[in-house]
Amino acid sequence: MHELSIIASLFEIMEEKAAEQKALKILMVKLQVGKLSGVVPDLLVTAFDIYKQDTLAAEAVLEIVEVPFKVQCQACKTEMIKEDFIVVCDSCGSTDIKTLQGTELFLLKMDVEV
Ligand SMILES: [Zn+2]
Repeated sequence: MHELSIIASLFEIMEEKAAEQKALKILMVKLQVGKLSGVVPDLLVTAFDIYKQDTLAAEAVLEIVEVPFKVQCQACKTEMIKEDFIVVCDSCGSTDIKTLQGTELFLLKMDVEV
């Protein structure tokens, strides 16, 4: 499961941050997940709940903020929301498209108890 390896690297980052803040517990973790990042939010939550056992985050809740796939046409500069990677500009038909957001996955916020 792809999500499990993502969660494993997430925990490395979380544990590093928790150590920096001398945290006793991790209470809440907020992840930003792009709609086309290739992960399934539900599976991410399941993986998180399995992985968190016996860690500082044992009682933590994973919150996922899903962001849409947003692109900008490089020909006419129109910004639009798309559902998949096959992208043609809505207003001018150009295929010269730049991705603005929606393929990323990163840690937005983490609440800890110190
Ligand atoms: Zn265009």
